[in-house]
Amino acid sequence: MNSSTNPKQDGHEIKTLVILGASGDLTARLLLPGLASLISMGGAEGLNLVGAGNSDWSQEKWRGQVQESFGISSGEDKANGTVGKNELQEMAKNSSYHQVDVTAEGELAKVLKSVAQPVAVYFALPPSVTEKACDLLNPDDLPKNTRFVMEKPFGSGQESARKLNKTVEALLPENHVYRVDHFRGTGTVLNILGVRFANHFLEPVWNTRHIEKVEIFFDENITLEGRAGFYDSTGALQDMMQSHLLQIMSFIALDEPATLDERDVRDRIAEVMRAAEVGNDYAKTTRRARYTAGKIGDRKVPNYVDEPGVDGKNNTETLAEIEVRINNSRWTGVPFILRSGKSLGEDKMEAIVTFKPLPHLPTGFTGTSTATRIRMGVGPAKLQLDIDVNGPGDIYSLNRAELRADLNETDLLPYGEVLKAVLTDNAMFFVRGDTAVECWRIIEPVVEAWANNDVPLEEYPAGSSGPEDWETSREDTPL
Ligand code: NDP
Repeated sequence: MNSSTNPKQDGHEIKTLVILGASGDLTARLLLPGLASLISMGGAEGLNLVGAGNSDWSQEKWRGQVQESFGISSGEDKANGTVGKNELQEMAKNSSYHQVDVTAEGELAKVLKSVAQPVAVYFALPPSVTEKACDLLNPDDLPKNTRFVMEKPFGSGQESARKLNKTVEALLPENHVYRVDHFRGTGTVLNILGVRFANHFLEPVWNTRHIEKVEIFFDENITLEGRAGFYDSTGALQDMMQSHLLQIMSFIALDEPATLDERDVRDRIAEVMRAAEVGNDYAKTTRRARYTAGKIGDRKVPNYVDEPGVDGKNNTETLAEIEVRINNSRWTGVPFILRSGKSLGEDKMEAIVTFKPLPHLPTGFTGTSTATRIRMGVGPAKLQLDIDVNGPGDIYSLNRAELRADLNETDLLPYGEVLKAVLTDNAMFFVRGDTAVECWRIIEPVVEAWANNDVPLEEYPAGSSGPEDWETSREDTPL
């Protein structure tokens, strides 16, 4: 077997993980807890952790932050049981902090040369700071076999993503640049590829002749979670569609890769993205809305525009829907409807593939013949096949049956999966440079149309399932 098809499952060669943006929200809330989950499963043995950032933090403050995010500051262990607890303590104790302005010439290079190598550099920084830091680096500044782990958004549009690609290409090889999209974690990706390509009955019907539409929903019942500053200048379209939902779409739509090698899989993804576009009658192919006051369970939610840190004049959408077309022979004519929003009544994170109506049902059957559907949940990971069967009671009468299976979920947190893929050198789980640009190409015209107010900004009460007249499969209960 090709060694890159079967990446290092156990060991890893990276000696140091340097987190730039050590004092930031991502580091505290997602990255360090993800690392703790990986350590507790024995996936980060011998790894050194280094934090770096602008803040004037003492070593104790940083170590305290690591312990808190690891869940070991008060003796309790966030990782499974006591397994890994010693390792967590050990990593926190040995971790060091460097105060550094990454936008000052030579400072980041100095830090990278001072730590055990090879090193993975995690850019948990504001995007503009990441761009500037990369601009200042020279290939000689990077120790041999350095990896870059780069957060989303990668650039702020096609042009800036292209420019950033060019900058990092001059520093290190493409398959050592890990552009993060945590929806592309091992569980989600492998579950979709497994269901699609390990079952003989699916591939012959996975095309425009048999499929009516594909819907990809990421509805959340959470609100702003204190991140108004970020969200109000980003919105659902750029936060969710440009990255996460297009990634899921690509795994549902791609042609079969010959192997799970990063080159094979990422070539197939790139083909899908290059063929994808949003039809340019944006008032018909896209919708946007913003929540008003309402109730989610027992929680009272204010109008979006009254949330602290929100400027109503930004016209930021909290719910976005776009219809993507993939112009190739497999998918022409099939709408891929991508929808994501906040402050909705229920969490619903799934892809629904709806088959076309039957050409003919033998006369004599009664009841309703409804479209066959496959529902794939991406959180929790579930599979449901909706089919019509006879009875109960009248054997001539057709009724809906739901065949369900739990799909495999890893014990790692999403960012534990990201870090595992970094440490095992598995670029397949990261976004390739050309795909990052294509995602912006698909979304950019919609961003522009919405900025020009070509599409009305609708409203929905918090806790509802969106504006009343949005026709989707919303009536389904979550998987
Ligand atoms: P924050 O604003 O919370 O943190 C930014 C960090 O960058 C701070 O630690 C800050 O240090 C540091 N920093 C800023 N300028 C410099 C500089 N010149 N030199 C060194 N360090 C600097 O951002 P987030 O943690 O929220 O986001 C980081 C990245 O992760 C962004 O790209 C974001 O899009 C992405 N992301 C975030 C998610 C989240 O939930 N937070 C989710 C998914 C992606 P200091 O405070 O000392 O200035």
